[in-house]
Amino acid sequence: MSASTTATRENEGGRFSHVATGDLDVSHGVVLYLEDISVSFDGFRALNKLSLSIDIGELRCVIGPNGAGKTTMMDVITGKTRPDTGSVFFGQTIDLTRLSEAEIAHAGIGRKFQKPTIFEQHSVFENLELSMKADKRVRTTLLSKLSSAQKDSIAETLKLIRLGDSADQIAGFLSHGQKQWLEIGMLLMQEPKLLLLDEPVAGMSDEETERTAELFVSLAGKHSLVVVEHDMAFIEKIARKVTVLHEGSVLAEGPMEQVQNDPKVIEVYLGR
Ligand code: ADP
Ligand code: MG
Repeated sequence: MSASTTATRENEGGRFSHVATGDLDVSHGVVLYLEDISVSFDGFRALNKLSLSIDIGELRCVIGPNGAGKTTMMDVITGKTRPDTGSVFFGQTIDLTRLSEAEIAHAGIGRKFQKPTIFEQHSVFENLELSMKADKRVRTTLLSKLSSAQKDSIAETLKLIRLGDSADQIAGFLSHGQKQWLEIGMLLMQEPKLLLLDEPVAGMSDEETERTAELFVSLAGKHSLVVVEHDMAFIEKIARKVTVLHEGSVLAEGPMEQVQNDPKVIEVYLGR
């Protein structure tokens, strides 16, 4: 038996057992580790020796000025963009730079883009049903019967994303904010081990933003999340550890208050 298998076994019922990690080796408590990542576009360095580590169950906020490399970082993690140098590890053993986008998604990294990609003609319930992690032996379709565990899982997600009263509504008629929550719910149905969210409250009303903050706080601890957002009021509500990106690398990192009072951060970002 390998050392990592032993460590994983020891964690069963231990420190990380309450976080969705499946068979991912998170024996060191780290779900994602980027080291020395550089990406250039036509000679322009979008990421410059970026190193970053996300703990299991963490809710990490990433902020920084436009063009800092936040979206590029997510592109590298999800395999959309290949780094020129550096490594990206998912858990202890999975080198994401060797996997395709589909393989990375399958390994358990879910990404939410700004524009929700829901099935507009289907009901809210059906959207969740269709995105459920399909049993590999049984092809899941809308016509196949759901098990009671599957129904429970959909009901739980509906409650979490506050669409319990809208289960039968056609998704296309939801508000902008509700569509965003539905997409988050669809990602959750796939039981991701890590969720990446790029500007999740863009275009939301104040009330929707407030509710989204509550949703993220309730997901933290059970899930590992990386949230990129410009809305500082939102970040203040959900922030634990904050990473500030600037010119493709980490400018500052720490608790919100520390980062907010960092003169370097005020100069390049918050002071503007
Ligand atoms: P952020 O999300 O922090 O605003 P991005 O990661 O989108 O920043 O972009 C970082 C820099 O890289 C920007 O200057 C952007 O113009 C550039 N960039 C991003 N993607 C590409 C691409 N596919 N081709 C060329 N330049 C790109
Ligand atoms: Mg961006």
